[in-house]
Amino acid sequence: MAYSYDDQNIFAKILRGESPNQTVEETEHTLAFADIYPQAPVHVLVIPKGPYVCFDHFAAEASDAEIADFHRVAAKICADLNVSPGGGGDGYRTISNAGEAGVQEVPHYHMHILGGRPLGRMLQPAS
Ligand code: AMP
Repeated sequence: MAYSYDDQNIFAKILRGESPNQTVEETEHTLAFADIYPQAPVHVLVIPKGPYVCFDHFAAEASDAEIADFHRVAAKICADLNVSPGGGGDGYRTISNAGEAGVQEVPHYHMHILGGRPLGRMLQPAS
């Protein structure tokens, strides 16, 4: 696996405090903040603080502590924002885009948490 991390991406700037964000949750390893262009009433981005480009990079190279913390934070947000079906919410979708085909705009691994409205089918048919 060969990933090189571009530390000039906008999420790296947020992590360095060079760009503002609307923080939802923060731990030693993880930051979650509101998406600047929300596509649903709930639209939160969860990012690791480490320099990982996308999901498979993170899963392969992050420590167990970083990986566990990331997912616990994401789950806490689903519960706190009342979209978790386990807590009586209507449900949510997590999305992690990677690379060109995945239409990843920001090359720092992030998980979108979307909810608060019916989200439709997972993918539109290819045109
Ligand atoms: P992706 O296509 O998965 O890389 O999506 C990147 C997401 O980051 C988009 O949903 C953008 O709206 C969001 N985004 C870009 N810049 C910012 C920012 N400064 N603060 C919060 N969200 C952002």
